[in-house]
This record gives sequence, structure tokens and C-alpha cells, in this order.
Amino acid sequence: MLVENVRVTMVKKRLLSGEACPKCSQTEELLRRRGLWDRIDDVVWAIEGDATSRGMKLAAQHEIQLAPFFIVEAPGAEPEVFVSALKLIKAHFGKATSRPGPVADVEPFIASLGDLDGPELVAAALKVFGADCGIAFSGAEDVVLIDMAAKSGESFSVFSLDTGRLHPETYAYLDRVAKHYGISPTIVSPERTSVEALTAAKGLFSFYEDGHGECCGVRKVEPLSRALKPLRAWMTGQRQDQSPATRSDVPTAVADVRAHATLAKLNPLARWTSAAVWAYIRDHNVPFNPLHSQGFRSIGCAPCTRAVHPGQHEREGRWWWEDATKRECGLHLGPKPGA
Ligand code: SF4
Repeated sequence: MLVENVRVTMVKKRLLSGEACPKCSQTEELLRRRGLWDRIDDVVWAIEGDATSRGMKLAAQHEIQLAPFFIVEAPGAEPEVFVSALKLIKAHFGKATSRPGPVADVEPFIASLGDLDGPELVAAALKVFGADCGIAFSGAEDVVLIDMAAKSGESFSVFSLDTGRLHPETYAYLDRVAKHYGISPTIVSPERTSVEALTAAKGLFSFYEDGHGECCGVRKVEPLSRALKPLRAWMTGQRQDQSPATRSDVPTAVADVRAHATLAKLNPLARWTSAAVWAYIRDHNVPFNPLHSQGFRSIGCAPCTRAVHPGQHEREGRWWWEDATKRECGLHLGPKPGA
């Protein structure tokens, strides 16, 4: 862990019904409310009736009968076990939560940007943060940002969330972009144990039944938190006109309050239209995902993305079985502690 060089594992219990035990969910909610969820390095499931599950083995090893519980490991010390989240917070998170993050640096920086957007905003951010600013890369807009960053002459870094459910074309595209720009994006994968617990309990397509939130939480939101930990700023290709229901007020820059620090979140294309993005792609020979030529306009995971007809809005092809106001994966729900 960043602050104390300790590793914190939370053991949660999954009931025979497939649901998390209510107390485990409440405890997670408590940690999230306090902005401490990022302090949990690993979540392990104790699966009811399965003594071979990793959480059950940890419970037996530490002679714990209750869930949730927490194991804190530090170099050269015996593991500590807590059955109370409040005691864990007091013992290990108290000093850390009162530590000021670099918000004092971020807010003047954001104020200094004024009305900048596009390549000027990319260059201004990279001049300050360099490789401590990560460009989140998955789609067309993101590669426009990479192109602008490469042309700025400043250093930058790129990360990509590999949900494990992307189209083969998208994987090939990620590789093509890396070669095109001579970059080595950090590929961030979901926690294996969390994916296995979800698929064991609910199968591979639970999002069609009970919404995409849980799967996106495991495959996108948690990996994003890990990807952001070493960074001071990040950059996304979000645009206001991508979704009238959810993105119409996306700012070009905002303080993104995380548990470990406050980052500058830059959206240099926030005010750009889709047409402007595609004009840039054409004018600058920016590589794009071949799926765009097959009617896919907004591209995410394969099971949750489909092509749209001419005249349909681009977000119509994402999570089409859900209400339009819920078609966000949780990566961009705005700054909030612990996100
Ligand atoms: S987009 Fe679909 S497959 Fe991808 S993480 Fe979200 S719910 Fe899971």
C-alpha cells in the first residue's frame, strides 16, 4: 500500500444464493463512503459451502468465524487480522486519511488552464505532469489524444484497461497503436479472484440479467483505481455530445478526488463534436479501430457493444438493453472520494 507499505486483503463471504453477505456489502460501503476503498489491495471471497475457496482457507488459517475480515501484511511482520473495519481504519488508515493530497497543486493548475482545449490543453497538462499524466486509451478519441501528446514533444504515459471481453479487432488495434506511436501502454487487467468469483456465482453474461454495474465494477472500475495510483493526472477522450443523457456537462478539466490523492482529470475533447474528432483522425492519419467501418461508433466490450444504424446516437450501441441514463460504466461518474 502506498502510505504504510502494507498490503490489506479483505475477505468477503459469498452466500449459497450467490449474493455477498449483507454485512460484507455494508462494510464495503462504509469504506467507500470514507474514501478508503482504494486502501484495500485485494478482495478474496470465502464461498459458503466451498472449503477450498481462498477466503475459506484464509478463515481457517487465521481461525476466523466471521465475515468480513481483513488481513494486513507488512514486510518483516506477522500478519494482523481485523474483524472490525473500524479497528482497521484506526490502526492503519487514520494517519493516512488526514494526510493532505496534492489537491493544492491541482486546483491552481486547473484554474490556470482557462478556456484551453484540444492540443493546447494536452500540451499544457503534459508540460506540468509529463509521464505522471496517463492517457486512458481504448477508442478513437483516445488515440487523437495520443497523437496530440506525441506531437507536443512532452513526455506522457498511456494505460489501457483490458477487461478480458474486448473484440479481437480492439486487441489488434491496441497493438497497432502502440507500434504506430512507439509507445508501451500499461495494460491493466481485472483482479483474477474477483472475476472468478463473479463468473462462478453468476456466469459470463450476468449483465444482461441484472445490469452492467457489477461486471464493469470488477473489470473496469477497480482496475482503473489501480491504474491511477501512480499518477498525478489523467486524460480521457470524453466528449459532451457522446451522450445527451450522461455526458452533456463533461468539463475540460476537473479535480478528481481519489482516496490516495487528488488528480487532475483532463478531457481535452470535451467540447469537440464527433465530426471534429473524425476530421482530426483523417487529417493526421490517426489509426482507428476497423470496427468503426462496420457501423460500431462507440466501442466497449464485445458483449455490450453493437453497431448502430445511420441516424442513431453513438451511445445507442452500448448496453442497449438498459435505460439511456444508466449507460456509463462507472469510470466517469465524477470525482468522489474512493472512486
Ligand atoms: S462493458 Fe459489459 S463485459 Fe465489459 S465490463 Fe462492463 S458489463 Fe462487463
